[in-house]
Amino acid sequence: MAAEEENCGNREERVRKMVEAGYETVAREAIACIRCPLHKSAIKRVIGKGSCNPKVFFIGEAPGESENKSGIPFYGRAGKQLDKMVEYMGLSEEDWFVTNTVKCHPPENRRPKVHEIECCKPFLIAQITLLNPRIIILLGNTAEKSFCSERKLEWGVPVEHKGRTILKLYHPAALIYTRSKIEIQNAFIDKNRELWQ
Ligand code: URA
Repeated sequence: MAAEEENCGNREERVRKMVEAGYETVAREAIACIRCPLHKSAIKRVIGKGSCNPKVFFIGEAPGESENKSGIPFYGRAGKQLDKMVEYMGLSEEDWFVTNTVKCHPPENRRPKVHEIECCKPFLIAQITLLNPRIIILLGNTAEKSFCSERKLEWGVPVEHKGRTILKLYHPAALIYTRSKIEIQNAFIDKNRELWQ
């Protein structure tokens, strides 16, 4: 693991430099990144999409196959479900941004490994710092592991974390596979509307 940790470099220093240089540098460095093995399965790097001044910042898991081809997060089936969720939340285009814990598609659609998530985290932290959203919505357990590993969150219960409000909701793919979760998710959204309205 020591060599792998070295690959990831000094994370705070990487974030600081990217934030100083601006958003274009974050995207450029993520596109050029070969710090973890995931770059080998990437066709396109999937950096993020949405507003440059979002109220809500969504973190998904990892780019899937259609995201790998398009370079756009949540481009496939899960994206259609995310669109429905965003509509239910009452958010307009300028209100939100979405990215993933890792910017490269993992082979065979597997979950990203801890080391891969950690290597990619400076890009995520730099994006959050630069876009400065009030609310971060973690879409599922992998997003929680990446962004908030030091505490266990309850589904649908917001917490204050490093000056922002964090809310863990179901990943849109979980809503596709378990339709009964849609009603529960909508109840979480209803309970928390005041956060973004
Ligand atoms: N699932 C994710 O977590 N992210 C995507 O971009 C697509 C599917």
